[in-house]
Amino acid sequence: MSTLNTTAFFIKQRALRPRAYSRYRQLLENERLSGAELRALNWRKRARLLEYAYTNVPFYRRRLDAMHIHPRDIRTPEDWIQLPLLHKTDLVQSHSELLATGVNPGRLALSTTGGSTGKPVKVYHDRQFPHETLGWRMFRWWNIQPGIDSAIVLRLPGRSPLMDLTNRVMWWPTRRIFLDASSMTPERIDQFLASVNKCRPALVQGYVGAVHALAERILGAGLRIHAPEAVTVTAAPLSSVQRALIERAFHAPVYDQYGCGEVFWLGAECDRRAGLHVFADSRHLEIVDESGRPCEPGMPGKVIVTDLENYVFPLIRYEVGDRSSFEGEPCPCGRPFPLIQPVRGRISDVLHFPDGRIISGEYLTTLFDSFPDAVTAFQVHQGSDASIAVRAVPNRSFAGLDATLESVRRTLQAKAGHSVPVRISLVPHISSDRGKTRYVISDYHQHVS
Ligand SMILES: [Zn+2]
Repeated sequence: MSTLNTTAFFIKQRALRPRAYSRYRQLLENERLSGAELRALNWRKRARLLEYAYTNVPFYRRRLDAMHIHPRDIRTPEDWIQLPLLHKTDLVQSHSELLATGVNPGRLALSTTGGSTGKPVKVYHDRQFPHETLGWRMFRWWNIQPGIDSAIVLRLPGRSPLMDLTNRVMWWPTRRIFLDASSMTPERIDQFLASVNKCRPALVQGYVGAVHALAERILGAGLRIHAPEAVTVTAAPLSSVQRALIERAFHAPVYDQYGCGEVFWLGAECDRRAGLHVFADSRHLEIVDESGRPCEPGMPGKVIVTDLENYVFPLIRYEVGDRSSFEGEPCPCGRPFPLIQPVRGRISDVLHFPDGRIISGEYLTTLFDSFPDAVTAFQVHQGSDASIAVRAVPNRSFAGLDATLESVRRTLQAKAGHSVPVRISLVPHISSDRGKTRYVISDYHQHVS
């Protein structure tokens, strides 16, 4: 079935999305580059993006002019660190200025993200780059072909029946089963696990916290679950304890991948699992210390990302809010992509409720995604009695704040069930833990078998 699925998948891609297909072929070619050739390709793309941003993006023109930097001053990769870092606050405050001038609106794909520091952020992705092709290449690293049957545990966007139908036709004969990570009741978890046994997917993919919760259910109840070829997790750091537990539950290797809402598909483990390979032909990743100097391999620092494929809303030296370090040794697999250690500093918490319900921390980070301008920061705190208190720093100039807060509260109340109260209170600021606001704090301890 897998072969048929993959053949059908590529026939459709070639016919309907020739650009995605040829990008994918190019990405496979890049895998055969030497380390030096890949670094040269990465540098050419950075130089081109910088030149473009200076010419077409008011934000970069203004900022670089103010610093008396011209793209032609950035001649070598060593010069690159003279460029200023881009912060989340820049994305919020200078949003419209970061948009390239003269771009066809059809090229813009808006994405709102909680990011990882408690401040909702809006970015535009460039539709000209079919970013999922990076995922297709990544699957091959785990001996999985694009288009195979999969079971997916993510936050699901609301979809109409027509969109569902279109999706099914587009994906046929591939079968994909879903569990909404934003609302995992014990019944839905068990239903989902039953359909995993029926559909027998080759891949299980989802948020770390949500997949971990599934694994706890499988082991706790002693369920027998179809073993996929691989399990892959994203959106939060994967602890070795979680990895071991998920592998025990699914009898399959777990692969970690890394990305964020601002820049999708940053890197992933290969089958050797010696670290995460950075997709350096499409993203440039740096690790710097507090004073902005590049860190030596093994030395942890701040992750700084440049999206080499986004020309509509360029993100150049963007501080994501995560920490990691480069590996000193190359990966035994021989692929040229540099290795980083597993990323730390994001949310993998889940909230448990007395009735067995679970809400993933990744979902909670997106609470205000539909109203990214309503608040400037927020935090979800679960008390020892399981009640939920959301603290939000309001944007006073936002019209309709009360109604928005009430709508967010009602949505969360529905997810949490009606046995626990959900409150939202406004606060002047949210204290941070070493510069990083925690999204989710829980004082409610429930025994999980
Ligand atoms: Zn490798």
